[in-house]
Order: sequence, then structure tokens, then C-alpha cells
Amino acid sequence: MNDLETFITDFVRRQVAEAETETRYRQPLVGFASAADPRFPQLRELAEPTHLLPADLLPTARSVISFFLPFAKEVVRANRAEPRQVAREWAVAYVETNTLINRISQRFIAALAERGVKAAAEPATHNWDPVTLVSRWSHKSVAAIAGLGSFGLHHMLITDAGCAGRFGSLVVDATLEPTSAPDDPIRERCLYFLDGSCRICVERCPVGALTAVPKELRATFGCPAILAFPNRTETGLDKHRCYEWLLQVADQFPEVGFADACGKCATGPCAFK
Ligand code: SF4
Ligand code: SF4
Repeated sequence: MNDLETFITDFVRRQVAEAETETRYRQPLVGFASAADPRFPQLRELAEPTHLLPADLLPTARSVISFFLPFAKEVVRANRAEPRQVAREWAVAYVETNTLINRISQRFIAALAERGVKAAAEPATHNWDPVTLVSRWSHKSVAAIAGLGSFGLHHMLITDAGCAGRFGSLVVDATLEPTSAPDDPIRERCLYFLDGSCRICVERCPVGALTAVPKELRATFGCPAILAFPNRTETGLDKHRCYEWLLQVADQFPEVGFADACGKCATGPCAFK
């Protein structure tokens, strides 16, 4: 790692360690991608034509920083306790972590500016089209391009620290060594796609929004980010059915903020690793 890459990684870890949140975290993950990585335009071609490119966020973009904040195990265990009722701990973690990601991004922009680096970021969430529910900048897909993980049957990214957590990303005009190459083989982490031995996320979804897509589809989609994109029936996620439920959950926790979160599908064997 060069000095800037070390600074970025340490910055994320320090911000999380010093966060005054009720939610605790495991060690954050950080990855880098080239802004010229062909998988960015591939997202537009294969999945969502309105998805932004790094240069749309920052015209002088050269690299993209991706980071993952994994929730502490107790947050996941709390959400496992009841089959349908979302744990307050999960709702709090969702709201606090979105705020934390936005704060990290803003502090990053200021800290990098002091080093002569321009940076830009999209919000942690709610940057989607209200009709299609498709994000204009998918932090999960960016993380996949940076090599932080591979998509599971539940349409979340499974990292080396599992899937229970939240992602953020920034575009910068500095050169950072990519942590993944476009032709890297997908390192499969989902047990369903590996050997068919798990469908726990599908079984735990309280509203039947997930279905098990044929495994061959996963292999066909060369772009590892493709499963982030919904409302293609073959992907197996009914995003509208999911979001109707998330809005009901938000009504249950008005005191914690807008917690349109559920995460039952993130409590299976891929939650932590
Ligand atoms: S719960 Fe099982 S099937 Fe679902 S994403 Fe995780 S490993 Fe894959
Ligand atoms: S977040 Fe909840 S409702 Fe949405 S797919 Fe996962 S388990 Fe189902």
C-alpha cells in the first residue's frame, strides 16, 4: 500500500472506532477500484441504464474507494431471535450506520482536500429511483468491483466479514492500486451458488420477496454486480414486495429515525464471513 492508501484505510478504521454510536462494529474493510474499470459501464449495459459512472460524480475521477462497516455480532444475533419481528438493534444499526457513512464521506472529502485530492460521494442510501427502486449509484456493486465480496442469493454482497453491515464509497482524482481486476474470477461465498446447500435467506424472508434463482444464472452473469439489480424476475428479488415490508418496519421504530430495514435475509450463515 502507498501512503495515501494507508491513510484512507486508517481513516475509515479510526472514524468507526471513534463513532459515538449505540451500534458496535467489527473491523471495517476497504477496497479500491480504477474509475476506468470496464465493469462500471457494464453496470449500465447489463443492469440499469441510469446508473452513474465515477466521472458523473467527479469529472476528474481516477479511482473509487469502497468501504464496508460490518455490524457487531450481537446486532445480528438480536435480529435472529424472532422470525418476523425486526430487532430494535438492527433498526438502530441501519439508521446509525447510514449517518456514520455519510459523516465519514464528508470528513473524507475534507481530509483528502488537505492532501490535494478531490473527492465526491453519493449518500449512503435513499439515492434510488422512487418508481423502480433502483439506485443510481450502488455501493454494493462498487464494493464488488473493488473485490470486497461476491453477491449472494439474497442480493447482498458477502465479504470476508460477511454481509451484515453497510457499504459506502467515494470517487477520488488520485491513483489508487485496484484491489480487484476485471478478469478476476468470482470468488463465490454463497453456499447456494457454491454447492446448493443453503437457502436460508429465502426461507427467512418474512414476505416471500426472495426466490432461489437457477444457479446457472449466477454463472451467466459475468459481472459480479449484476445481482444487485432488481425487478428482473430472473434475479429472484421482488424489490417492491421487500420495500413495502421495510416501510411497515419503519413505522414500528419512529424513535430511531427512518428505519426502512429488515435484514432477516442477512442473519444466515453468511452474516459474519
Ligand atoms: S443465507 Fe445461504 S443461500 Fe442465502 S446468501 Fe447466505 S449463504 Fe447464500
Ligand atoms: S430485507 Fe427482509 S423483506 Fe427484504 S428480501 Fe431481505 S428478508 Fe426479505
